[in-house]
Parts: sequence; C-alpha cells; structure tokens
Amino acid sequence: MHFFKKKQVSTVPTVVVTDTIQQELASRPVSAQSKVLVETTVVPVKRSFCQQCCSKENLKEQALLIATVTAVVLGIVVGISLRGLKCPGDERVNGCRITKEDISYIEFPGKIFIDILKMLILPLIVSSIISALAQLDAQSSGKMGARALVYYLGTTLIASIIGIILVLSIRPGTRGATVDIKPDAKSTEGRTIDTVLDLFRNLFPDNIMEATFRSYATSLTKNVTSVVLPDGTTYNKTTLIPKVEKRDGINVLGLLLFCIIFGIIISRLKKKTLILKQFFEALLEVVMQLVRIAMLYGPIGIFFLIAAKMLEMDNLADFVGSLGLYMVTVLAGLFIHGLIILPLLLFIITRINSFKYIRGMSQALVTAFGTASSSATLPVTYQCVELKNHIDPRVSRFVLPLGATVNMDGTALYEAVAAIYIAQLKGIPLNAVKIIVTSLTSTLASVGAASIPQAGLVTMVIVLNALGLPSDEVKTIYAVDWLLDRFRTTINVFGDSIGCAIVQHLSRKELAALDEKNAAEENNKSDAVLPAFVADTTTTTEQTTSLMLV
Ligand code: ASP
Repeated sequence: MHFFKKKQVSTVPTVVVTDTIQQELASRPVSAQSKVLVETTVVPVKRSFCQQCCSKENLKEQALLIATVTAVVLGIVVGISLRGLKCPGDERVNGCRITKEDISYIEFPGKIFIDILKMLILPLIVSSIISALAQLDAQSSGKMGARALVYYLGTTLIASIIGIILVLSIRPGTRGATVDIKPDAKSTEGRTIDTVLDLFRNLFPDNIMEATFRSYATSLTKNVTSVVLPDGTTYNKTTLIPKVEKRDGINVLGLLLFCIIFGIIISRLKKKTLILKQFFEALLEVVMQLVRIAMLYGPIGIFFLIAAKMLEMDNLADFVGSLGLYMVTVLAGLFIHGLIILPLLLFIITRINSFKYIRGMSQALVTAFGTASSSATLPVTYQCVELKNHIDPRVSRFVLPLGATVNMDGTALYEAVAAIYIAQLKGIPLNAVKIIVTSLTSTLASVGAASIPQAGLVTMVIVLNALGLPSDEVKTIYAVDWLLDRFRTTINVFGDSIGCAIVQHLSRKELAALDEKNAAEENNKSDAVLPAFVADTTTTTEQTTSLMLV
C-alpha cells in the first residue's frame, strides 16, 4: 500500500477519514485540496459487527451472493422437476413438452452471461497484467513470478497426489456395476508431444492481434496403408498425421507472455512510457466497472445455465455403480484439497483467517460452479480478491490471470483419478513408476488445459498415453464429466485466489520497499508544489488516515 511518510508538525485538529472520504478527497482538483496534508499514521478501523454487516455496501454484496446461491439451488430444483416433461427425441409425443431445442432456449440467458464475462476477459487480462507490472520493478516482478510459479506447481502436485492416494485406496474401477458407455460420447485423439508443442506454439504467437481470438491446436488424422511383408502377407498400418491448425479462442498464454514483457519494459522506461502506464490503469478501472455491472446479471444467468444442464443430463443412473464411485473419489479429493490443504497452507504461511477468506471468495466460487470456466469467472475473481479479501492489486493483477491459465489444482486431481480409474477398469496393473508418472503428467496436463468447460477431458490424453492407454478412453467418464467439471473449476479458482494471498505475504518486503520508493518520489514532487494534497486512491485495505488541516 502506498502510505505517505511525510509528517507535518501541526497543532490543528485531527480528523479521521475512511477509504470513501479519502477517494472523494483525492478526486477533488489539487487546487481545492491545497490546505490538506496527509499524515502517515494508519489506524485500523474499529467498526462494530452490526456496522460491518449492516453497511449499505455490505448488504448490497450479500444480496448479490444470496441471489447467486439461490439461483444455483433453484436451477437444480426447477431443472430436475421439469425432467418429467422432457422428450426423448425432438418431437413432442405422448404428452412430453420439452425438446432438445427448448432446452437450448432455456440455456440462452445463461449463455449470454458467459459471453458477457468472456467479452471482458481480453481487456481485463491485458490491462491488469500490464498495469501491475508497470508498477513493479523488474526484480520484484521476477521474484513475485517465481513465487507464484512455485506455488502453482507445488499445490497442483499436492492435488494430484491426493487424487492418486484416494483412487488407489477406494479402487472405484474394480468395484460397482460396470460402466455403460454412451454411443454419442465424445472421444479425443491426441499425443503427448503435440499437446506439449502446442503449449510452446501458443506461448510465442506469430501475430499478437490474431492471438486475441485464435490459438494453435494440433489435430490428428488417421492414415491407413496396406503393408506387404517379405513373406507376402499384408496388414493394415495406421499412422497418425499431425496437422497444426489455428482454432477460434483467445491464446491466453501468448497474450500473457507478451503483456508480462510489455509491462516490465514500461516499468523500466518510467517517464518515457508514463502515458502508457496511465492508459492501461484507466482501462482497467473501466473494465472493473463493467465487471461490477455484469455481475448483477449473474444470478439470472446462472439459474438458466444450471436448470438447462439438469434437463439436458441424460440419465440419473449414471451416478450409481462404478462411475458413481469414481465421482465420489474425485469429489472427496477436491473437498480435501479445497477445504483442508489450501486453507491450512493459507493459514500457516500468512496467518489469514481461512474461513473469512473463503467467505470473501464466495461470489467467485459460485460463479465458477455455474459457468464451469475459470477464465469466464476471472472478472468476478478479481472483484472478490481485491475488494473483499483486500489483496494488493499489484499482486492480484499479476498472479490471477497467470493462475487462471496455468494453475488448475482441481483439474490435475481429477485427471490423475480418471486415468488410474480407467486403468483399473481395464485391469492394467500400475507399478510405482507409473504412479509417479501419473502425478507428473496430470500436473503437466492441467497446465496445458484451457480454462474453459471440460478442457481437462482433452489434455487427459497426456496422462492416458503415459499409462499406455488409448486416448479415446475418455469416453468412459464422459457421462459425468460435466458435473465434476463444475466442482474442479471451483477448486481451480479457489487455488488461484489463495495463491494471491500467499504471494502477497511472501513479497511483502519488496512491496513495502516499492511503496517507500514511490512515497519518496511523491514527496519530492509535492515538496516542489506544496501546499498540495496527495493521497493514495488505489489502496483497498480497511484503513483510516489522519488528516491534518493546515
Ligand atoms: N473447466 C476447467 C476450468 O475452467 C478446466 C477443466 O478442468 O476442464 O478451470
């Protein structure tokens, strides 16, 4: 936080201002503030429980959260109760009322919500990364980035290990009724090498404009040739021919790398690039306001998304038997990771009250559940992390977009469980080496997964290949994947938010040093133009600042 060191000796009365007053003061023209000087003492606000709960702002936020949770519950109830009217095909026969086409209309308001959030992702990522890095120096951003990466990889590995321990102890693949694979289940054809190469291709896009709407993906086509052996017999040889294509969808990795370097250069060039820094800061402010408006539509969108999904769901019988046990294994792992491991890590490292932190994140967690996409949830995650959990924007604006793209604890856990579950179903024995390979490959696969619905299903080919399983085996778990996706996305988003608090704590010295440097620069400037008022309008922590009227 940028607190000001300069102390003015004065005998005038001291007044206490809150953030709101502070911001209002700062918005006044400098000439009108000329009689006000800031004193550095920062005193924590002591507000009674009732004052906190009943403040207008708080009530508004709570109302939105309650409305969103209610939307999820209502969506489930309404969706399930309408299932009786669902038609088996596209015709309204034998008294049934709701066809597949009708379900797409029910889903429509929800799709609009997802599209609104997606629309904000591009300006949000670009402006937040650039403005965050422009405020840091290269050394601090390097250290912060390294800490974030260690956190991402560490927690993702822990998540996949939890999944492996659970799936090996519960053994869902060797118990319960066998899995009934749907004929229309999607299967993916892929190879580990292509998935890894695509990651690098996307990191270095050949056209930054194109990266805002298209990304690289390799598709495989099967080529069957007849081979004649020396003894005259023939056999059909199938080869996979890779084709690198550009598909619709933001290339987040490429944009991230570009913006990180762009931001660092702005911070180095200082005065020369001040206008760019201010531009991206202003852009971010505007996008955040747009996010706040978009969030108001959240409950409506989420209600329709969930109700349509409940209606669309094929058969409730999918949730029993072996597949049901597989679901229980994934869910147990996600709960252990999200409710025990991550909160413990947060508390041990930062001493932050984990319950409060989770409560602050609730709006983002419910949105993640409703949209099944960490990138669509990103705008809401920013709001919760910065405004409710008071994380320094210089940290959250850098760590969150990076986390939404590469940090997916829930996905890694699920991929490890799913791959071993399929191996168990197929009766493939797993030795210690294969288990270690599973934990490493599921971590890698989660990094490669896009933060969109059911992306984990695609990158799972890496884990399946490592276990010697054909990649189209994902169809085994397809029927229940949409539900697990919602839970794992919620954990992915939660993991990103915990990462912000931990990186902020570990980077506190660098942040404080930067604050001091900035304050010294500000003081030099204000010395030149005194008397003038200088105030920090970016800080979001609960604080009061003593003002002295001269
Ligand atoms: N839907 C997940 C996310 O957006 C990715 C996945 O696991 O499929 O975080």
